[in-house]
Amino acid sequence: MKIIVLPGDGIGPETMAVAVDVLQAASERFGLGLQLDFDVAGHDSLKQHGATVTPALLDKVKAADGLMLGPMATFEFKDASRGEINPSMWFRKHLDLHANIRPARTYPGMQARLGEFDLVVVRENTEGFYADRNVESGGSEMLITPDVVVSLRRITRLCCERIARSAFELAMTRKKHVTIVHKANVLKLGDGMFIDTCREVGKAFPEVTIDDVIVDAMMAHVVRAPQRYDVIVTTNMFGDILSDLTAELSGSLGLGGSLNAGRDYAMGQAAHGSAPDIAGQNIANPASLILSAAMLLNWHGNKRGDARFQQAAAAIEATLADTIAAHECTRDVGGTLGTREAGAAFLKRLTAR
Ligand code: ATP
Repeated sequence: MKIIVLPGDGIGPETMAVAVDVLQAASERFGLGLQLDFDVAGHDSLKQHGATVTPALLDKVKAADGLMLGPMATFEFKDASRGEINPSMWFRKHLDLHANIRPARTYPGMQARLGEFDLVVVRENTEGFYADRNVESGGSEMLITPDVVVSLRRITRLCCERIARSAFELAMTRKKHVTIVHKANVLKLGDGMFIDTCREVGKAFPEVTIDDVIVDAMMAHVVRAPQRYDVIVTTNMFGDILSDLTAELSGSLGLGGSLNAGRDYAMGQAAHGSAPDIAGQNIANPASLILSAAMLLNWHGNKRGDARFQQAAAAIEATLADTIAAHECTRDVGGTLGTREAGAAFLKRLTAR
């Protein structure tokens, strides 16, 4: 399996260094034969190539089996005509990574303020309120007058169908319950179609129970009782916001692993951003990228029918639980270790498994 590694901005390089060590150790331990090929995106690519991402990089990623994308300083990339392209958007759009899978769970050894829970947000990744990926050319956010902006939200039946299918398939491997999160009371057409399509897809999964919740009410429900939820399917922006909340409710945004998956390609990427407030201080939690790497291995194992990759992914996830239980982790999740030291403790446990 060949994986392109793009360390990214802010806390990207320090957390990706740990994730890379974990991938290499898993490769040795489970005989995966991983080949890691390092390149640049974000600020480093802007300096070297005049753009945060390049078509040559996209070709390279397409020729590989997976991508690990570090956090990107998206907020600083304002003008695409000067090469300041949002790398997350670029890969999600051009690799057609329609599903963003964002698990959130509590771990033994950490204080679970809201009780234990284990859920997954399945977020549509290619349209919705994300104006930078909604049209073939031009933008779908327009300055009508200096004081008026219109941002278009695109919802298509095809994207509703495929994200619903991803959610129901995932639910079949879990507790067989899907919650549709929407704003159909206001966005009657777009979210109306989203709910109807999800329920229609759900008919092919009669064992899976379904409910739906309006997004604003969901913020209260998930804080009150996150254990009520198993798989949550929602549109792009609602999923982005909700999954930051669920990651933080699980203990820290630093536990927010995520996979961006399409039919042919997949990209592991932390749910959080580049966290400039803690960059370069050796305090960022590498767990989100470690989990994202495990999800990428699991995706590849499922695609190829190769159990070694699934075993490696399960071992990485179990090792994370062990390190948290032993408080061999960063401060945000109850430990005392720095990023590098948490990585070293993780490797010791993974190789001893
Ligand atoms: P960006 O502009 O790139 O989105 P941000 O700081 O606005 O960066 P996040 O990077 O998502 O947004 O960070 C939100 C908060 O969560 C910050 O206080 C940050 O320090 C914290 N955080 C994010 N990632 C981690 C991590 N891996 N470990 C510990 N804390 C984190």
